[in-house]
Amino acid sequence: MCMFLANLFKHLRAESVEHEAKLELAGLHGKMESNPHLSKKGWRFVQTFDYRTFRLCKVVQGNSVKFHKVVEDVMGMPGYEEDILASMCMAHGGGGPERRLTLQDVWEVHMPTQWYIDQLTRLFDTGKNTPIHLLKAKNDEYHQRFMTLREKGVLEGEGLTYNLDIAQSFVILTALPQKWNKETKHTCICRSFFKHGACEHCASMAMLMECKVKIPKNAVLKKLQHRPRREKEPTTSVTKDEGSAFSKDKRTYQLPTV
Ligand SMILES: [Zn+2]
Repeated sequence: MCMFLANLFKHLRAESVEHEAKLELAGLHGKMESNPHLSKKGWRFVQTFDYRTFRLCKVVQGNSVKFHKVVEDVMGMPGYEEDILASMCMAHGGGGPERRLTLQDVWEVHMPTQWYIDQLTRLFDTGKNTPIHLLKAKNDEYHQRFMTLREKGVLEGEGLTYNLDIAQSFVILTALPQKWNKETKHTCICRSFFKHGACEHCASMAMLMECKVKIPKNAVLKKLQHRPRREKEPTTSVTKDEGSAFSKDKRTYQLPTV
C-alpha cells in the first residue's frame, strides 16, 4: 500500500512538474495564484446547493460506506431533512456527528451537478418530494452511463446532445497529494476550478470532511445567517445574479431517460 502511494505521489509530482514546465513554455508561469481561495461568490454558490447533493455523490475510489455514513449522520439530525447542505455543515460544525473523512476515504468522488439534480427530480411526477431511494436508483443508472462515457469517450448509438448531457451530469473530484489550503483538498474538472484553482464543489467537500472549514462570514447569505436552529425553512434564495452560474444554461429539454 505504501509503495503504491509512494509511486502514485511520484507520478503525480512528475506530472505537476511537467505541467509547470508547460505553463512556463506557454508564458503562463506564475500567473495563477499560488494559494487560490474560493471567492465570496463561490461560497455563495455553495449555499445554493441542493441538500441531496452529497447523498447522490458516488465514491469511485475510497470508502463509500464511511462517506455515506457521515452524510447520513449529518442529514439525520432532526429538522434538517429538507434543509440545504451548507447550513447543515455549519450548524453542526462544533458539535454534531463525527465527520472526520480522510483523503483516502474520498480519493475520487463524482459529485452530481446542480443542473443534473434538477433534471433528475423532474423525471418524477413527485418532483422535489420524490423519495431519496428512487432518486438514488435513477442516479445509479445515470452514473453508470457517465462512467461508460468516460471510459469509451462516447456513448454509441446516442446523439450528441445526450452525450453532452451525460458529460455534464457529474464533476470529478480527485484528491490532491497535498492540500492547497483548507478548502481545496481535491482537483475538480469544472470550469471554475480550471480558471481559478478553486471551486464550490471542492469547498463543499472540504466542509463535509472537516468541521473547521466554514463559510467566510462576509459570504454568508442573509437567510442562512439569521436562520433559527432546528426549524424547517425553505431553501435559501439567491438573487438572479448570484445564481447565474447555474442558470446560464437556459435549455428547456429534460434529461433523456436511460
Ligand atoms: Zn468544481
